[in-house]
Amino acid sequence: MHSRGQEHLKVLLRSSVVQKRVREMGQQISKDFKGQRVHLIGVLKGAAIFLSDLIRQIRVEVSLDFMAVSSYGDGSQTSGQVRLVKDLDTSIEGLNVIVVEDILDTGLTLGYLLRVLQQRKPKSLRIAALLDKPERRIKDVKADYVGFQIPNEFVVGYGLDYAERYRNLKDVCVLSLPPS
Ligand code: 5GP
Repeated sequence: MHSRGQEHLKVLLRSSVVQKRVREMGQQISKDFKGQRVHLIGVLKGAAIFLSDLIRQIRVEVSLDFMAVSSYGDGSQTSGQVRLVKDLDTSIEGLNVIVVEDILDTGLTLGYLLRVLQQRKPKSLRIAALLDKPERRIKDVKADYVGFQIPNEFVVGYGLDYAERYRNLKDVCVLSLPPS
């Protein structure tokens, strides 16, 4: 248990456990797309660390692009609103697209992104999410590749932030905030 001010961090997934699972996810993707090319779309910023590890575990031809959406603002409460902040650089028509997301929570973000991307006629469209909080789902979205299902707690580390902090933690940790 670490703490910073009144904030407490408890390790949920150790770095070694995360690395092993990311390796397996990369192997699965390589198997599913054997002999083909995949186009990864990283959802900024939270998925950046996961994506950078995942892409190096993929053994088929791979290309990369990024999107950014705003959902959470600076706090830990979802606003329920999704806005496209950065669009793709290139067309995805005819490509095997895998959207790489840090965490699937209510499903509002990915639900929105899938709708936008599907209109652009990819050959296939899949989701890889490091974490999944099924309890919180509002929109029925399922990831094709899931690292870990986790309980309904606010997590940080391995790319995930709280008000832009903690992205650099190697482990995924549960963050407890002081009562407001
Ligand atoms: P959704 O739209 O599925 O509710 O939320 C997806 C986004 O909310 C994630 O990409 C992430 O940015 C943020 N989010 C959801 N749960 C957590 C969490 O436990 N920790 C952090 N840091 N962000 C979260």
